[in-house]
Amino acid sequence: MDGVANLRFLRGYNDALVLGIVRAGQPMTRVELAGRSGLTPQAVSKIVARLIADGLLVETGSRNVGVGKPRTMLRLVPGSRFALGVHVERDELRVVLVDLSGSVLDRAVTVLAPEFTPDSLVEALAEQVQVLRGRNDVPDDRLLGVGVGFVGPLDHFNGVVRDATSLTGWHDVPLRDLAARRLGLPVLVDKDTNVAMAAEAWCRGGDFRHAALVLAGTGLGAGLLLDGQVHRGARTNAGEFGHTTLQIGGPPCACGRAGCVEVLHNSALAEGDVHHAVTVLGTAVADLVQLLDVDHVVLGGKSVLSSPEVYVGGVRDAVREQIPRPDWLSVDVSVSPLGQDLVAAGAAVLVLSAFYGRNLPSQVPTGGTALAAHPT
Ligand SMILES: [Zn+2]
Repeated sequence: MDGVANLRFLRGYNDALVLGIVRAGQPMTRVELAGRSGLTPQAVSKIVARLIADGLLVETGSRNVGVGKPRTMLRLVPGSRFALGVHVERDELRVVLVDLSGSVLDRAVTVLAPEFTPDSLVEALAEQVQVLRGRNDVPDDRLLGVGVGFVGPLDHFNGVVRDATSLTGWHDVPLRDLAARRLGLPVLVDKDTNVAMAAEAWCRGGDFRHAALVLAGTGLGAGLLLDGQVHRGARTNAGEFGHTTLQIGGPPCACGRAGCVEVLHNSALAEGDVHHAVTVLGTAVADLVQLLDVDHVVLGGKSVLSSPEVYVGGVRDAVREQIPRPDWLSVDVSVSPLGQDLVAAGAAVLVLSAFYGRNLPSQVPTGGTALAAHPT
């Protein structure tokens, strides 16, 4: 296990830096890499040699740059490493296989029985992982690990599901360790909303730094990107947006409070009134924008995907009408292009980010399953 685990992370911060720059951009030369990374050309040459030897980068033709001999271009080898991403919904289990660029190569989806237990979930997960690995040629030493996106509240740092709202039998469950033991692979666990945010940020890059990702599935929550970082809060409990109160004395919610955004939104949907559901959501999103000053709101989840135009139009209108000075405080509202794969792809991005040395939990998983990317 240790030998395999050693292949799962980059050798140092600078290796991760260089690989990350190549991933995010077009093929580039060693000189360009030195310019963008701030490293010396000599250091870049050594790092690139290592990354080529590990199969992560490849030379791809050359480009004339004025006088002197043409410079060799480098690009990422997407098929050099893989990760699995899992979305546990209350009624469905989705597993995707992604390559090192984060592209979804294949997916396996199965129904989860109501009241599924930790043991039955881990068994179903092992089956779907087997299905995907059977269909795709993924050598053990190229599979970085498994990310799991699960409903909160949970503890990302310790991989423990605290209490999954509306699921019984899920109280302080060490899901990360249970899954790692059953799969024999490194596992990371995070809230569905956080990994969805991570997936969107991975795709957008650049100036996408202040965003809220509103996930409206069977539950309702938000992933937050603040100053370019996924914001989890002190106990991974940030973004419990669905359980903020919109109506004092309103209907009781599964969380124990009353008049929450989630219960108002879901009740309207249950009555077939999508427009009212979206009005509720839009008002709550306007509050969120006022609180955090994000300039992007991304919508995802099954409810959104069933009527994307109604959701994006309604939330856009609510934000425009309810935020003062929309000319100045403009907010881009969109539906995530990742569709049904959003959370699963994001869970895989969690593993890729660890490989690239980003967004690591401060306490890495124990038991020989560490995904640590580098000593800091
Ligand atoms: Zn609630």
